[in-house]
This record gives sequence, C-alpha cells and structure tokens, in this order.
Amino acid sequence: MSATAAATATATHTPLPVLGRDVLVPLVTGGEVDYAALDYAASAPALQRVWDDIAAYAPYYGSVHRGAGYLSQLSTDLFENSRKEVAAFLGCRPDDQVVFTRATTDSLNLLAAALPQGTRVFVFETEHHASLLPWQQRDGIEVGYLSAPRSPRQAVETLERALAAWRADDQEADTGAGAALVCVTGASNVTGELWPVRELAEVAHAHGARIVLDAAQLAPHHPVDIAALDVDWVAFSGHKLYAPFGAGVLAGRADWLRAARPYLAGGGASRKVALSVREGVGGVEVEWHTTEARHEAGSPNVIGAYAIASACKALTEAGFESLVARERRLIAKVREGLAEVDEVRVLSLFGDDAPRVGVISFVVEGWNSSHFAAALSAEYGIGVRDGLFCAHPLVRTLLGGEPGEAGECGAPETAPGERSLNAIRVSFGAGT
Ligand code: PLP
Repeated sequence: MSATAAATATATHTPLPVLGRDVLVPLVTGGEVDYAALDYAASAPALQRVWDDIAAYAPYYGSVHRGAGYLSQLSTDLFENSRKEVAAFLGCRPDDQVVFTRATTDSLNLLAAALPQGTRVFVFETEHHASLLPWQQRDGIEVGYLSAPRSPRQAVETLERALAAWRADDQEADTGAGAALVCVTGASNVTGELWPVRELAEVAHAHGARIVLDAAQLAPHHPVDIAALDVDWVAFSGHKLYAPFGAGVLAGRADWLRAARPYLAGGGASRKVALSVREGVGGVEVEWHTTEARHEAGSPNVIGAYAIASACKALTEAGFESLVARERRLIAKVREGLAEVDEVRVLSLFGDDAPRVGVISFVVEGWNSSHFAAALSAEYGIGVRDGLFCAHPLVRTLLGGEPGEAGECGAPETAPGERSLNAIRVSFGAGT
C-alpha cells in the first residue's frame, strides 16, 4: 500500500495519537529520530560494538581453514574463537557442539536432517513456521502436533500426556523405544510470552525424549543457559541478536550430529576423499569430519560468526539483569499506552500477567492491520510488522479463527468492522 493510500485510510478513522511518536519513538530511541524501526523481532539493528568489531576485522578478512597465510590463519582463529565465545554464552556442556548456520530456520532444518530414522517429533501448533515445518520434510519421521495451551502449566500437561501416550503405544507395539524430540520456542514471536522451557525439558527427559529450544526470540532478551535449562539443543539467529551478518547457531548434543549425513556435502566437511574407480562409472569414498565441520561445508561465514560472538560478549558485559529490568519497564509503558485505546486488543495466549519479552501484537477494531501499519510508517515514522508473523495457526487462533484455517502471507483485506485476518506487531529490545 502506498503512503498516499495509507493517509487516505487514516483520514476515515479515529486518529490514535497514543500510539504515535510521543509514546513509541522515545521508548527505544530515547529521543527524536526521523524513523523508528520497532521490528526487532524480525531483525534487530547491529550493536555499536558489533559494527566496531566487524569494521576492525574487515581489512584482514581471509578464508577460514584454507590457508597458511596470515589472513587465513587470523580468520580461522577468529572463527574458532567465536565458536568458543558462543559456547560460553550458551553455557554449553563440555561435549556439546556449536555449529554455525545461516539462521534459526537453517539450524532447525539441520537438526531435522540429523534425526535418527523413526524419531517421533512433538511440536505445539503455536510454533513459528521455522519450528513447525522442518520435521515433516523428512521421510520416516512422524510429527505429533500439540494443541495450543492457554497457560504455561497447560503446555507442560499437554506435553506430558502426549509423551505418556507415545510411550504406552510404543510398549504395546513392542517396538522398543524409538527416539523422540520435542521442539519448543522460548519466547513467542507473536505474543512475546515466555514458555516454561525448564519444565518442558524435565517432562521430555522423564519420558526419554530430547528437546530443542528455538531461542530466536529468547536469546536477545534473556540468558539462555543450555545446561541450566537442561535442553539438548538451542537454535538462534545472529540478525535477531544485534548481529545481522548472515549467521546463526545450532548448539548442543554431538551424538546425533556426528552420526548424521553431512547437511551439505563439500569441502571443509570431508577429511579424506578418494575415487574408488578412476575411470568410467565409479564411486567416491569419503571420510567425513565428526566435528562441527561435518555440517559446515563450504567457506564459512566468518564475519557472521564473529558478529554473533561480539554481540554475545556485549550482551554479557551489559548484564542481562539490567537489560531485562529495562525491557520490563518498556513493555509496561507500551502496554499501558495500548490499554488506553479502547479499540486496541492485545493478543495473548497465556493472559495479561504472563512474563514476556518486548514483542507485542495487537489488532485495532475497525482497522485493517496492514493499513494501520502502513499509516504508522507514513504518518508517524514508525516501522512495525503486520501480517501473520510466520505463525499462521497461532495468529489465526488468537484472532478467533481456527488453527486449521489457511493462513496466507501478505495482507488479507478486511473491511472496517470485519474480524481481522492479520495483526500488527511492535517489537523492541533493551540491547540498543
Ligand atoms: N523462530 C522464531 C520464534 C522466530 O521468531 C523466527 C523468526 O522470526 C525464526 C524462528 C526464524 O528465524 P530466521 O528467519 O532467522 O531463520
């Protein structure tokens, strides 16, 4: 929609100054700016420290693991030290691996590709598509979709029931316990609500299942300690953690990763390669690495990895305690501002009092969410997200529809007064 169309749409509706510059802009910027991007949940701006570190390294860029020259050695050290920094940031166990990927989606697809044949996956229907979809791409993997819980306690009970039923079926069929994996988000990219990760991990492990944490929205806001949360893997994206240089992370248990086929085949992942037949039809014998390199074929993104490590250090030094406290104040202020507008309905799965991060979605009665978001940008210089946030079943449920109703990317049109088919999302963080 064009700015002119947005302005026209605004003219026919009650203006909502409380959502304008006076409330939203000073929140994250601390003052006047021409444009405030309040879409951190999609991609957060780089921290100054990250810019500075990358700028200092850029002139010395070289190829990782591929050369005896100074620049190559420097880049290799930087890449491998970044791995160690990330391991420390996540509180990894001694045997855990830290694989650099492109982002959370890539990390979860890598784990899906590494699942032992026959693994049963359990996932809540409320998940972001990156956590919902990779599993059903694999042949020989069954996926159990768990219904939307209305409280953290209900989430734990739902998982408990599903895993108990799976165990009972397994024993009845006398097939022997197969592997199971639970995939859960730490903080919702729609409601910002925190999920009871520690409790879900306890239930998963009590039933012999493993658990992967989608920390895409959690890691920028709260400490993610893999050992303390007792999760088996963690996935997150650099560009949501103030390090937008194209890298992400999958960290956790080494055994399934070591046993799996390499995610990509190519240089760097292979230790030894020999042609078994020299001419004509033949095969190739390959000995693959068993370290992280197994799943990092090709020239790695050293700048992306270094940026993540730099952001991890910056956040640790700033201290999550003060970041969380500051963010709580921002969340309260935005929610109070929204509560003053009768037409606004904030979307929530667990209720108003649920602990949350700085991600708030809402609809405005009588407004098409896409028009509203366009008006915020055109009239107030505030960039927010509109749509279904790559979590179609969840947003449909929150808007009063059925999770089975098909979602669609883009901006479904609704007439004023009709049930909204999409929502508006404001998101921010205390990191910048
Ligand atoms: N998981 C959650 C909860 C997200 O919010 C997102 C992105 O919005 C993703 C996964 C996917 O992250 P990426 O697009 O960086 O792969």
